[in-house]
Order: sequence, then C-alpha cells, then structure tokens
Amino acid sequence: MRIVVTGGAGFIGSHFVRRTLTGAYPALADAQVVVVDKLTYAGNEANLAEVADNPRLHFVRGDICDGELVGELLRDTELVVHFAAESHVDRSISGAEEFVRTNVLGTHTLLNAAANAGAGKFVHVSTDEVYGSIDKGSWTEDRPLEPNSPYSASKASSDLLARAFHRTHGLPVCVTRCSNNYGPYQYPEKVIPLFITHLMDGKRVPLYGDGGNIRDWLHVDDHCRGIALVAEKGEPGEVYNIGGGTELTNLELTQRIFELLGSDWSMAESVPDRKGHDRRYSVDITKISRQLGYRPEISFDDGLAETAKWYMERRDWWEPLKKR
Ligand code: NAD
Repeated sequence: MRIVVTGGAGFIGSHFVRRTLTGAYPALADAQVVVVDKLTYAGNEANLAEVADNPRLHFVRGDICDGELVGELLRDTELVVHFAAESHVDRSISGAEEFVRTNVLGTHTLLNAAANAGAGKFVHVSTDEVYGSIDKGSWTEDRPLEPNSPYSASKASSDLLARAFHRTHGLPVCVTRCSNNYGPYQYPEKVIPLFITHLMDGKRVPLYGDGGNIRDWLHVDDHCRGIALVAEKGEPGEVYNIGGGTELTNLELTQRIFELLGSDWSMAESVPDRKGHDRRYSVDITKISRQLGYRPEISFDDGLAETAKWYMERRDWWEPLKKR
C-alpha cells in the first residue's frame, strides 16, 4: 500500500509518520510512506530522524501548490493524509497570504491531483477552529462554519473544497476536525512548548488578555490514532470531530506548566490579547466514538508531564529553532 503524507515533517504529520512506520496502526502496517513537505520554518527533517533509515519512507521536498509534482506523487496512491498547512494563528494575523496559498490553493491542487489519479482515500486534516467560538455546549459536525481568524478561515475554505470534491467528483474524502494538540516536536511558537522552553531559560511567559480563553487539549498521539481510524474505517464524504475532553483555561494550563517546571506566577506577564481571540473551543466526539470506536487514551496530566520531560531532554532540538 502506498500512502502520501503531506506536511509529514511538521509536528503532527511527523508523529503520524513515525507511528505508521513503527507499526502503531495495523491497517497501515506494510505501507510505503511518501512524505511531501516544503520544509517551511515549521517543517524539520530532524522530526523524522527516528525513522529516516526505514526503507518504507520516501521523503520529497516539495510544495503542495506544485500541480505537476503532486500529480506525479499521487499516482497509484491508496491513501492521502493531508497535514500540510500554515498553522499558527498569530502569524495569520500578521499576514495571511501564505495561509491562503498553502491552505486553500495547495489543498485544491492536491484534491484535483487525487481526483485525476483516482486516489483511494483522502483524509483532510482540519481543525475545530473552523467552527468559530462557543460559549456553552460542544460542536457536532453539522454545526455551521464560522471561522474568526484568517488561519481558521483558510482551513474552513479547504474543508469546503474537500467536501465539494467528494460531492462533485466522487473523491473519497474524509475531513477530521481536531482540538488543540500538544506533545513532542511541536514548534516552540505554540503555547505549551513556548512556555516550557521560556521557563527553562528563566524567561517570563506571556499570557494573553485575562487568561480565561478555554481550549480542549489532546495529545498528538491520540489525534494521530483518530486519523488512522478515519483513514481505515471513515465513511467517504463524512466529517469527524476528534477531541480530548480536557478543557482548560489558559490560566489553568499555565498553572499546570508552572507546577511541572517548579515555577510560579512571578514568571507570568500579561500581554495584550490576540486580535479576534476565540473564547472557547469544544468539540463533541460522539460520532467518531460511536461509529469508529475512538476514545482518547492519554490523560492530560500524564501527557503534559511526558511532554515537559521531552523538552527538558531535547534542548538540542528546540534551541536552534528559538534562536532563528
Ligand atoms: P506544523 O506547522 O507543525 O506543520 C506543517 C507542515 O506543513 C510543516 O512541515 C511545513 O513545512 C509543511 N508545509 C507548509 N506549507 C507547505 C506547502 N506549501 N507544501 C508542502 N508542505 C508545506 O503544523 P501541525 O501543528 O503539525 O498541523 C498539521 C495539520 O493539523 C494542519 O493542517 C493543522 O491545520 C491541523 N491541526 C493542527 C492542530 C494543532 O493543535 N497543531 C489542531 C488541529 C488541526
């Protein structure tokens, strides 16, 4: 079985590739894995070092907007798992052009190539941020898309293109919408690795606004297991929420990180809130649980402790990224 993984040198994509090649997903046990990644600031071949010698891995440095390249790569492909994206909300607020290019045009280029090549299945990895912000309750998959940041708007656009390629061309697309991920190899601009590495360097951590924004945290391994399940058993044309069920305010998250790092609130500084900052995200995961048997396995406390330990041991990985 040949699978193509876009963005496989990023945080979540590389986890999926490492786990696929080390046998975590029985349905993909023999898969030949082709990674296509542009290696933007967020892509890092070092994320694949643990499996670099695996003969089933083939790495291609390339852009998903390059129609000729992806047309070649998607030939005879049974599964496409599409992670490649510009993924950092703050960067999309400073300038969204690259987000529209990669997330919208790049996704369209891939969908088009997959339809032309007759690809077996296309898993489009999206985000809960496409739903907007919710004060109470949780989103089911049929809720309207009301994205608020240029990042989430570009992801929502790509979700709709994925849906349209299923409806129009019969491409067997599944869309996953996941909550906030954390774990090893996450680029140190995102809140959890940013805070851990700042504290390791004796620097204060920046806290947006009143710290009351709520996120649902999921370990990257649970997210990737959900994606593998959708790849194996997901119904074409369907959307699946994936979430962790650990909702925390940023203040609660910061407190847990302080406890793990032996630090306290003297190391926090308030900074002006992010523009258009969504107050709360919360996904309902009943559908993927009932239909595909999914449930998260890593408790937040264990996952966060293991993640903090990883960053403490892997200064060699994150320090060069923070110095850039
Ligand atoms: P990331 O920024 O760590 O990785 C993105 C990868 O895509 C990088 O390796 C980068 O080099 C590559 N890439 C970017 N533009 C490209 C292009 N034009 N062509 C080829 N490769 C390109 O992101 P991540 O956190 O691993 O997120 C992966 C996917 O999961 C994204 O689609 C994101 O929207 C989605 N997602 C992320 C989260 C989260 O909490 N991080 C939650 C839900 C969904």
